[in-house]
Amino acid sequence: MTLRLELVLGDITAEDVDAIVNAANHTLLGGGGVDGAIHRAAGPELVEYCRTLGGCETGEATITPGFNLTARWVIHTVGPVWHGGGHGEPELLASCYRESLARADEVEAETVAFPAISTGVFGYPIEAATAIAIETVRSTPTNVSEVRFVAFNQETVDAYQSILDLSTGTDL
Ligand code: ADP
Repeated sequence: MTLRLELVLGDITAEDVDAIVNAANHTLLGGGGVDGAIHRAAGPELVEYCRTLGGCETGEATITPGFNLTARWVIHTVGPVWHGGGHGEPELLASCYRESLARADEVEAETVAFPAISTGVFGYPIEAATAIAIETVRSTPTNVSEVRFVAFNQETVDAYQSILDLSTGTDL
C-alpha cells in the first residue's frame, strides 16, 4: 500500500484524522505551543488520563484517547531539545516519527497528522527537522495510509516544501 503525504497550513487540533501527534514534554502533563493547544481542545480529561501514564522519554511515543478532539487518538511524543546537533538530536527526532507510526499501527489508525516536532520551544532548526520528518515517515514500514504534516506558519510550510522539491520523481 502506498503512503500518501500531505502538507497543510493550520491548527492541528482541527484536523479530521484518526490520530494527531502531540509534541509533548517528559511529564505528559501539558505545556505551551502545540501541547497546550491540544490539551485545551481535548478538554481536562486528557490531562487526567496522562497523569496515569508516568511520563514519556525523549524519542518515545505513547497513545491516549482524543476526548473532545475530532481525532480519536492523540499520540504523545517527546522530541529532543536542540543542543547543537551533536547530542543525538537527529536520531531522537527520527525515533519520534517511527514510534508515533508504531503507536498508530497498534490502534489501526489510517490517517495521522504530525506537527513539526521540536521546532518550537525545543529549538530544532526547521529545515533539518522537516527533512528528518519526511525522510523518516517515507522510510518507516507502516499500515498508515495518509500522513499529514501540519505547519503552523508559512516558514514551516516553506521548509517542508523545499525538502519535497529536492526529492525527485515523488509527489508530496
Ligand atoms: P516543541 O517543544 O517540540 O518545540 P512546540 O509546541 O513549541 O513544541 O512547537 C512545535 C511546532 O508546533 C512548532 O513548529 C510550532 O509552530 C507548532 N505549533 C504550535 N501550535 C500548533 C498548533 N496548534 N497546530 C500545529 N502546530 C502548532
